Amino acid sequence: MERGRWVPGRTVVVGAGVVGASVAYHLARLGHDEVLVVDSRGRTEMPGSTGLAPGFVGRLSATPELTALAVDSVATYGSLVPDGGGDSPFREVGCLEVATSEGRLERAHRDVEHGRGLGVAARVVGPEEAVALAPALVDPQRACGALYVPGDGAVDPVLLTRLLVDAAERDGVRFRFKTPVVALEHAGDRVTGVRVGADGEVVAAERVVLAAGIWGPVLAAQVGVRLPMTAVRHPYLYTRELPEPADALGDGPIVRYPEHCVYTRRHGRRYGLGSYAHTPLPLTPTSSLTSAEVPFHEADFGTALAEATALVPAFRAAPLGRRLSGVFAMTPDELPLVGPAPGVAGLWCAEASWVTHAGGVGRQLAAMLLQVGELLVDPDRLAPGRFTSWSENRIHEAALAHYQGIYEAH
Ligand SMILES: Cc1cc2nc3c(=O)[nH]c(=O)nc-3n(C[C@H](O)[C@H](O)[C@H](O)COP(=O)(O)OP(=O)(O)OC[C@H]3O[C@@H](n4cnc5c(N)ncnc54)[C@H](O)[C@@H]3O)c2cc1C
Repeated sequence: MERGRWVPGRTVVVGAGVVGASVAYHLARLGHDEVLVVDSRGRTEMPGSTGLAPGFVGRLSATPELTALAVDSVATYGSLVPDGGGDSPFREVGCLEVATSEGRLERAHRDVEHGRGLGVAARVVGPEEAVALAPALVDPQRACGALYVPGDGAVDPVLLTRLLVDAAERDGVRFRFKTPVVALEHAGDRVTGVRVGADGEVVAAERVVLAAGIWGPVLAAQVGVRLPMTAVRHPYLYTRELPEPADALGDGPIVRYPEHCVYTRRHGRRYGLGSYAHTPLPLTPTSSLTSAEVPFHEADFGTALAEATALVPAFRAAPLGRRLSGVFAMTPDELPLVGPAPGVAGLWCAEASWVTHAGGVGRQLAAMLLQVGELLVDPDRLAPGRFTSWSENRIHEAALAHYQGIYEAH
């Protein structure tokens, strides 16, 4: 294991969702011996975005930085195994991007070349093979063919986060759950620690890493830092449990319909489906929002869910089960915010990352902080201060404009 430069004093990571857990895991692996992670959640609860994600991990992206972060994440996720054995949280089930028009099929051929340039193997399959790979999710009447990326897959985000926490603890990281950070402590323009809990205990720190997901901007604003990210609501539906045993069919590939902004997969005995084909629904998190799951109202998503369930064969007949409206964060260029916060010494960010990229984001942050090894991505591309000259409104509009184009990036 490569050791980082020794850094004096304690690092407090705020947030133990998949991103904070990954940051702690990588800091410890690179030799930082004084890391404390605090989270308002209980050890076995997952009220943040991580607990709601269906766990699709796609590496092919129009943005090479996202591919680099995803490829590194897959390597980390695949290396984690539960204590006493058991399945890795990452399963290489593959991804099918179904084309329902000749134009999209041509695009699939170009994507094979694009993937080759990025080191991600992909091929175009005909409609019969696409249906054979995922019969319940691909309609033979609609599919013209598909881009097939066999090395993509799915994670169980809750298990993944638990394994990252367990591994970090074994490497000496301390976790304090049920410990909300109520304030960032600072002296002038230097962060000096965090204030936690109802009794206002102060935990001194040499540096603080914000990995608080959609709540990051609430804390950053306390020290005058504006994080350029916008939270949005996103729907995900499950069918009820099916009669077939889960292992009779296996989970099969993730299936995406880029032209329709729909993605779907099998989760054991249920199917799940998400859609981006609706007007983006921004939301401003506050400290009183205690979960990234907000009340579900089908009408908020217009006709998107009716269209999506009509598109995917498994959803046409199956009775629906849980329907959720979850919140996650977006940035104006779809890249996460990783590195030192602008204008406040000792404050670092690992924010607006997907599960797909969280492993790489943790490694990038740890390598920057401990000044060791090659960075995965040019740090300027992820710098939290890269939109400092932009107005609030411009940040917001640019982030929302990517909502339906999320397929090209993730
Ligand atoms: C419906 C849905 C579908 C998604 N699908 C996918 C997908 O298929 N693939 C994918 O890669 N991504 C997906 N995402 C996005 C992904 O879930 C998130 O981007 C990712 O989980 C963010 O992780 P995080 O650790 O930054 O945030 P969170 O998981 O939200 O963790 C933040 C943590 O910070 C803690 N916290 C916040 N404020 C404080 C405070 N003041 N004090 C102490 N603790 C605090 C919270 O309790 C929480 O545990 C989806 C998201 C949703 C909602």
